[in-house]
Amino acid sequence: MHEQKVQRIAAQLKAHPPGSPVSLRKAGVSHQVPKSGDLRHKDSKIDVSDLTSIISIDPVNRLCTAESGVTFVDLVDATLKHGLVPIVVPELKTITIGGAVAGCSIESMSFIHGGFHDTCVEYEVITAKGHVIIARPDNEHALVFQMMHGTFGTLGILAKLTFKLVPAKPFVRLEYETYASVDAYRDAIERHTAARDIDFMDGIIHSSKRYVLCLGHFVDRAPYTSNYEWLKVYYESTATRTEDYLSTPDYFFRYDRGVTNVRPNSWIGRLLLGKFMASTEWLALGRKFHRLLPTESPTVTLDVFIPISKLTEFMTWLDRELPHYPLWCVPYKRVHDYEWLHDAYWKQLPDQMFVDIAIYGMKQRKGDNAHRRIEEKLRELGGIKTLISHNYYSETEFWQIWNADNYGAVKRVTDPDNLFRDLFVKTCRAAMGMR
Ligand SMILES: Cc1cc2nc3c(=O)[nH]c(=O)nc-3n(C[C@H](O)[C@H](O)[C@H](O)COP(=O)(O)OP(=O)(O)OC[C@H]3O[C@@H](n4cnc5c(N)ncnc54)[C@H](O)[C@@H]3O)c2cc1C
Repeated sequence: MHEQKVQRIAAQLKAHPPGSPVSLRKAGVSHQVPKSGDLRHKDSKIDVSDLTSIISIDPVNRLCTAESGVTFVDLVDATLKHGLVPIVVPELKTITIGGAVAGCSIESMSFIHGGFHDTCVEYEVITAKGHVIIARPDNEHALVFQMMHGTFGTLGILAKLTFKLVPAKPFVRLEYETYASVDAYRDAIERHTAARDIDFMDGIIHSSKRYVLCLGHFVDRAPYTSNYEWLKVYYESTATRTEDYLSTPDYFFRYDRGVTNVRPNSWIGRLLLGKFMASTEWLALGRKFHRLLPTESPTVTLDVFIPISKLTEFMTWLDRELPHYPLWCVPYKRVHDYEWLHDAYWKQLPDQMFVDIAIYGMKQRKGDNAHRRIEEKLRELGGIKTLISHNYYSETEFWQIWNADNYGAVKRVTDPDNLFRDLFVKTCRAAMGMR
């Protein structure tokens, strides 16, 4: 069955005339930030919408093999029946496992494990010429394996992934620690990371004087459970509570109504619409009406990864130059020096931990380009950003950060005629409406 789907996708690729780029047609919504002129809306499509099956769950070896279009909500539902969950579960229900690898996903176990891709052991990749490659960290396609992450589908189509699972319990108990300064907050992140006294860690920064660290433990029993799928907003609860209990699936998807940019944001709006309008529905609307989105000074929805030693400097700068709260914060361990970043980048970086600061829903002043200012600040501090949002890098600057040699080496194997576009062109030009 899976093989037939792969053959059908390969046949579409082989039949596609050279010279015009393609994008993927998935079953669900894309969690890229919707952009008004994104050229992918005009591309010919390779239909991968039937890659939605979980192929196997092996409870003994704690491994799962699934097609790339499986969503995390379906995956958690299936693996929990075996008392297991994926090691890294991104917080929005309909993010897919293929999208998590190709587009960079993180969550509150990232302080131990890095990204979802760091828990993967094998990818099946369909190349632009319709060949199938099995890539593992220890076979002849090791570089293909390492480079698939964050390449936004420009190095081939992920068809099937095998990844690790961990034992889970039915509930998560949350404790909230509040700090008045970023230095104290950073120390607490480092302390909990060193002690490994928790299963989950993320945080909400409510203001420059209120930093909340959300610490989670799997537990067997809960005296009560909260739910944030309708009227109550999870991030708001962290400002007033000191403790909470959620069922494990509700914990994983606690931000599904929006992380810090919850819509509708009024209580009455949520009463009327909140039950039906989660992140999936809003993103579907954004895609449908993308032409109506502003091209000038678009709202900032952006994840930036700051080396933890520079967190105070970055937060002080952000508060002075681009004050916006609340911010979501996800500590992220340097588990592997990723091949997709330039060697020089890793050489200058002493830190073993990043802190992802998610700036979601920041309005820009007219005429300002906050995206660009943040890119420049990141370069100064040795930070990086994911490419799901608006990107303003020049080509030279881009390839001083991303690894052109490794990228080119894989591209020659998986997409020699550049059917999927190159990474810079796809994320910094085509996504921004430029050829
Ligand atoms: C508002 C918003 C909130 C977010 N919140 C979170 C969050 O809480 N936690 C988190 O971890 N992340 C979050 N993200 C980021 C999200 O994890 C990434 O955008 C991720 O790539 C989305 O996965 P997707 O399945 O929707 O992939 P898509 O958006 O459909 O695709 C992402 C990229 O990967 C490529 N791709 C998709 N599938 C494949 C495949 N099978 N083979 C090859 N390439 C493929 C696509 O072409 C595209 O370039 C958020 C993003 C937005 C816009």
